[in-house]
Amino acid sequence: MDLLDQVFLSNRSWAQGMVKNNKDYFKNLSLTQVPKYLWIGCSDSRVPETEITGSKAGEIFVHRNIANLVHDDDPSLLSVLKYAVDYLKVEHIVVCGHLNCGGVKAAFDGLEDEHLGDWIADIKSSYMSNKDDLSEIVSNTDKINRLAELSVVKQVEKLSSMKVVKDAWGRGQHLHIHGWMFDISTGELNSLKELSPEKRVWAI
Ligand SMILES: [Zn+2]
Repeated sequence: MDLLDQVFLSNRSWAQGMVKNNKDYFKNLSLTQVPKYLWIGCSDSRVPETEITGSKAGEIFVHRNIANLVHDDDPSLLSVLKYAVDYLKVEHIVVCGHLNCGGVKAAFDGLEDEHLGDWIADIKSSYMSNKDDLSEIVSNTDKINRLAELSVVKQVEKLSSMKVVKDAWGRGQHLHIHGWMFDISTGELNSLKELSPEKRVWAI
């Protein structure tokens, strides 16, 4: 059996198991979605948001890209953000980075590539603006992980200045933006920063 045959087999087994526990599971799931928050995460296969947060289908609205970046000219991100905030009325947006991120490492290594290099240019700029602080860290692995944290904080701040978010806060909508890191070596999520209409800030 090839890999993709196995995927379909696993899918049927999962679907049957869900119905066995709750015969109306898919009937209810097909009616609507009421996700609790928008997750902006890395495409890395080791950071599956539903699994690491113990969530179920219908609980997280998701946008993932390489190195969990927020570009204000990215139509995919902008449409997801708009739908999540204006229509689904999520109360939380989480930007989740992770340690040992290949995208951040590529930026640190100065990767020049027609598509990848352009995409991660924002991390290179985070590196340049924090060069002095990062130079005090001895190991490259620790430098890359710190750069990943700094980039998450930057993405949270960028989100807070985007029109969709500012409009939501302007009309009194309850919306918090969080910066989290996932530690692949322990499986733990940690909070770095939160921004809310009250502008409460917890920085690392
Ligand atoms: Zn990553």
